[in-house]
Amino acid sequence: MTNHTFNIAVLPGDGIGVDVTRETLRVLEALQPGLDGVKFEFHEYSVGAGEYLKNGDPLPADALDACGKADAVLLGAMGLPTVRWPDGKEMTPQIDLREKFQLYCGLRPIRLYHAQDTPLKKFRAGEIDFVIIRENTEGLFSGRLSQADKAKGEVCDLMRITRAGSERVCRSAFEIAIRRRKQCAIVDKANVLPSMVFFRSVFDEVAKEFPEVTSGHLYVDAAALYLVQRPHTFDVLVTENIFGDILSDLAAGLVGGMGMAPSGDIGEDCAVFQPSHGTAPDIAGKGIANPIATILSAALMLEWLDHPETRRGAEKIHRAVETVLEDPANRTPDVGGKLTTTQMTDKIIQRL
Ligand code: ATP
Repeated sequence: MTNHTFNIAVLPGDGIGVDVTRETLRVLEALQPGLDGVKFEFHEYSVGAGEYLKNGDPLPADALDACGKADAVLLGAMGLPTVRWPDGKEMTPQIDLREKFQLYCGLRPIRLYHAQDTPLKKFRAGEIDFVIIRENTEGLFSGRLSQADKAKGEVCDLMRITRAGSERVCRSAFEIAIRRRKQCAIVDKANVLPSMVFFRSVFDEVAKEFPEVTSGHLYVDAAALYLVQRPHTFDVLVTENIFGDILSDLAAGLVGGMGMAPSGDIGEDCAVFQPSHGTAPDIAGKGIANPIATILSAALMLEWLDHPETRRGAEKIHRAVETVLEDPANRTPDVGGKLTTTQMTDKIIQRL
């Protein structure tokens, strides 16, 4: 096998982001010797609210530059509720990263590893297994930087949907569906909003390029209902930015919560892998954060790096997590257990 060194930019960020990133690096370090001809080089950068307090910028140029040049980026979580811009607005460096690098494909796999982790009674391991693809660069988030003119007595947020933005995210969704169970549905609000009628029409055009995939349509309100009633019927769901934001938290709740939900934000030349959760200030510093979401995000990163050995590494991580979770005692407190972040990681490393 030819030797390949992957340069990974590591951004631990704030709160539990620091703990879960540290533990995930331990998993990758433990994995590396078993991968033939593959090396990881990790370069760590300070970002987030803590960095803003030190140097006035939550996303300094050196970190941004490194993200642009790296083979992939591993991110913990950024932002703290008490640290805001002088005008009182919350900092959202993760959204800035998505927009700057056009990380349009928000990949949110949802998989049930053990029956005890879902609040839904009838599902067993593996029976909930779908992916939400969240459009990451436009939609209702487009309005986030506009200035509200309160004197007018009304504030409007813009839902921006472009042909190019819709085409690329729908195409990614179908490409992912081809490698899975070959079903892809759009989640929209095309019964009410013209922007969503347009989004759906582009989805239908892209669907024609993938005749082997069964395509479908769902309104977002119905999707929220069906995700709870029959999550096993979904394979790939592609949706607008804010709908994806909301539905992916709901979906994480189906498989054990935020500590179990990995994600990848993927563009043409850059990809950032991070847990779906935030900095969880309520448990920061207690050593009890669930590292699984970040460890599974690292597995997504290995798949995305698309080398036979990194793909094998991703498979090893999945199997290790699966095996560890077979024992109901192997849980951090968020999923009803007593393990610390480090103990949970140790169990996974032992199984690699
Ligand atoms: P954001 O707005 O950035 O998503 P948030 O504060 O709204 O952040 P999270 O940080 O995701 O949301 O936390 C939501 C809840 O989930 C909190 O109660 C937190 O303790 C819990 N939580 C999130 N991630 C984890 C984790 N890895 N392990 C344990 N509990 C977690």
